[in-house]
Amino acid sequence: MVKKWFAISFALITASAIFFSFTTAKVKKPKKVILIIGDGMGLTQISGAMSEYAGQNAFERFPIIGLSKTQSADDYVTDSGAGATVFSIGKKTYNGAIGVGADSLPSENLFEKLKKQQRATGVVATSSITHATPAAFYAHVGSRSSEDEIAAYLLNGNCDIAIGGGNEYFAMRKDGRNLYQELQQKGFVTVADTINAFKRQTATKLVYTLATDGMKRILDGRGDFLKQASLNAIELLGQNKNGYMLMIEGSQIDWGGHAMDYEYMKTELWDLNETMNAVLDYAQKEKDVLVIVTADHETGGLALAVNKENRKQFVPKYTYNKHTGVMVPVFAYGPGAEQFSGIYENTEVFYKLTSLLNLP
Ligand code: MG
Ligand code: ZN
Repeated sequence: MVKKWFAISFALITASAIFFSFTTAKVKKPKKVILIIGDGMGLTQISGAMSEYAGQNAFERFPIIGLSKTQSADDYVTDSGAGATVFSIGKKTYNGAIGVGADSLPSENLFEKLKKQQRATGVVATSSITHATPAAFYAHVGSRSSEDEIAAYLLNGNCDIAIGGGNEYFAMRKDGRNLYQELQQKGFVTVADTINAFKRQTATKLVYTLATDGMKRILDGRGDFLKQASLNAIELLGQNKNGYMLMIEGSQIDWGGHAMDYEYMKTELWDLNETMNAVLDYAQKEKDVLVIVTADHETGGLALAVNKENRKQFVPKYTYNKHTGVMVPVFAYGPGAEQFSGIYENTEVFYKLTSLLNLP
């Protein structure tokens, strides 16, 4: 009798072990993560802009879609500081915070966790690289407006590549320090060129600024900077055999919303779409890249109202010039993408990423 029980329980344990290893093996894990944030990019921005886009709609290339609830710790409507910090540290925080929780204390971010495992990290943005969204991935400050202080966080080496605007926070600082020189002493190559267009770089520790503060608008001739800089960052980060995380931001979709300027928003979103297509082409070849596209919040309460002169067309109408609290979409492609389906709080983006990247 005892022998029989032993045989049965042994069979059950074996069966559950096989089942368990089978189910856990089913969750594919990415080696590389590219998180693309369209600042202020809600569903109406995507619907309107992409309905008039002549090329390939990158959003339609994603097999998995989710919805993220964007509320911050203290406000139904988040700002971009709290909205990016939540992805970086997994905690809802107060509006204006950069890499600190609601208690104002710094919390370990994704880049710091990745660095402990000798993986590469980077940010590319069309704002200053010290602006709220990119800053939240490498800095810990109480207020997003402390951009001089934010820039100095790059000296700690937890962000290998930073490309965007922001020359003034490195070379025209209130404290007179020249952060480019200090970065070079830490092994970074620095490039500051606010006149010429983007040039491909080869250094794997790089701070590259192309504007005094934010980059030019697409409408003012920025060209394909975001795509070129993103592909260059991917190439540089990809040299790390342990994998990497890159955050790419279409910063000015939000600024178009604040200006209640539909053409501005639309052209910035098209620019992000072209970058997304290039990133997806790369991810399709590599097979170990998880690509996530989402937003921190919607901006402008944009509505697509019918055009009474031509009822097959729409008229874009902004409700007001600030952020709104509507859920934003999350698009996922690559190993682990299925984890991003469903409706969840924005904190979950962090927890899904830490789990998929085996981060503590
Ligand atoms: Mg932003
Ligand atoms: Zn905004």
